[in-house]
Amino acid sequence: MTELTTILTAPHLAPADQELIRQAYTLALKAHGGQKRFSGEDYISHPLAVASILAELRADAETIAAAILHDTVEDTAITLGEIEKKFGKNIAFLVDGVTKLGKLKYQGLERHVESLRKLFVAMAKDLRVILIRLADRLHNMRTLAYVPKEKQRRIAIETLEIYAPLANRLGIWKLKGQLEDAAFPYAYPEEYLAVMRLRKTKGKESVKRLEKIYRTLSRELVNQGLKTAQIDYRVKYLYSLYQKLKRHHMDINQIYDLSALRVIVPTLPDCYQTLGLVHTLWKPVPGRLKDYIAHPKMNGYQSIHTTVFTGDGGTAEIQIRSESMHEAAEYGLASHLFYDESGKPRNGGPLGPTRKKVAWLQDLIEWQKQIEESGQFLTELKTDFFEDRIFVFTPKGDVIELPKGATALDFAYAIHSDVGNHAAQATVNGKFVAMDTQLKNHDLVRIETKKTAHPSPKWLAIVRTSMARKHIKNYLQRSIKT
Ligand code: MN
Repeated sequence: MTELTTILTAPHLAPADQELIRQAYTLALKAHGGQKRFSGEDYISHPLAVASILAELRADAETIAAAILHDTVEDTAITLGEIEKKFGKNIAFLVDGVTKLGKLKYQGLERHVESLRKLFVAMAKDLRVILIRLADRLHNMRTLAYVPKEKQRRIAIETLEIYAPLANRLGIWKLKGQLEDAAFPYAYPEEYLAVMRLRKTKGKESVKRLEKIYRTLSRELVNQGLKTAQIDYRVKYLYSLYQKLKRHHMDINQIYDLSALRVIVPTLPDCYQTLGLVHTLWKPVPGRLKDYIAHPKMNGYQSIHTTVFTGDGGTAEIQIRSESMHEAAEYGLASHLFYDESGKPRNGGPLGPTRKKVAWLQDLIEWQKQIEESGQFLTELKTDFFEDRIFVFTPKGDVIELPKGATALDFAYAIHSDVGNHAAQATVNGKFVAMDTQLKNHDLVRIETKKTAHPSPKWLAIVRTSMARKHIKNYLQRSIKT
């Protein structure tokens, strides 16, 4: 099957979608005619591969068509005007966004900062631009061997530091894992070989064990009436294994989830029923049970992880999740981006109902606008944006997302500017705390307001979010004038 056929036969595409994609292909093929990649392949192989990555993520037809056209404006005689005339405003917008981001790819740091800036501005308008850019990067990583040697390491490190974290923030873990594993050997060749060797010694043994568990568990699940459960293996991504090994003095015996059995069941209650069954069949290793369903990970990941003794001196990790949790884990934000709650494709709407989910993006844009010097931008970008975020709860149980290090006062402003401006007293998990207390993941925070309470210049030193800082500054300026 050709790459184009693979894309066109993606199960989520309708006949009209296929026609649109076919037309994009015809134009791109003609436009790139004669051009070659570093690998010697016809150039069209690249946009097709990018489109194929996106089709696998179940991107909508506009995104796939734009991916096929993504290098035409930059590298061929085709103009943006022609694309708009033939394919409409949305696709032209996407191609333009990707072109602008791509233009700056092989330049110095200063220029790179500028391109990141554009990346984020584009992101606010339509996240699909970012997805195309990430898929573009993934295919470029997969063909990095053909790029001049002196460029390889820099591109690989950039992928690890900028692109993979971005995929992670968007919740597309598959893309994150693939980007990292493609970049790893070029960025840190020695470490890569060391991790490969470690995994080899241990890998076979653990897969054998999983196979045994798999047989027993599938049989027992059927006996319990859970006929629809799916079970598969997942082997840990190599770069992610490396990160974990570094935290455990490179001791592979400390890694419990080198490979894991994944059990996907229809509903949430089935998850706990399955956990009960697993623990009846095999004794759990103490302290290894993690309920990320009740307490999702910071990036929204939900699953139950448990490690059990397999009876032959070894252990195995078992991950249990519902179908919808699995969906979210595989496709991340992409699953919300392209489809509405009923599973119908969204009509190319930039953000729309997903706006709430990506509130952090709005905060990012706000804050990015305020930073004047580009030098500062990259440092702040790394510390503020790519660092993990925390999720804390209001007394009503609403989830508020904040950057790590955010204080009770940041929380108050995140609720509402009025709550922030009149914040008088904070409690965290039922205890009174000072306003500058740094919040931890899953804290329950309550803010009491008083009419008489108001911002002072000192507050600026307490807050961590740009939103809070902006409101405090506004308040202080207003009170000077009056
Ligand atoms: Mn490209």
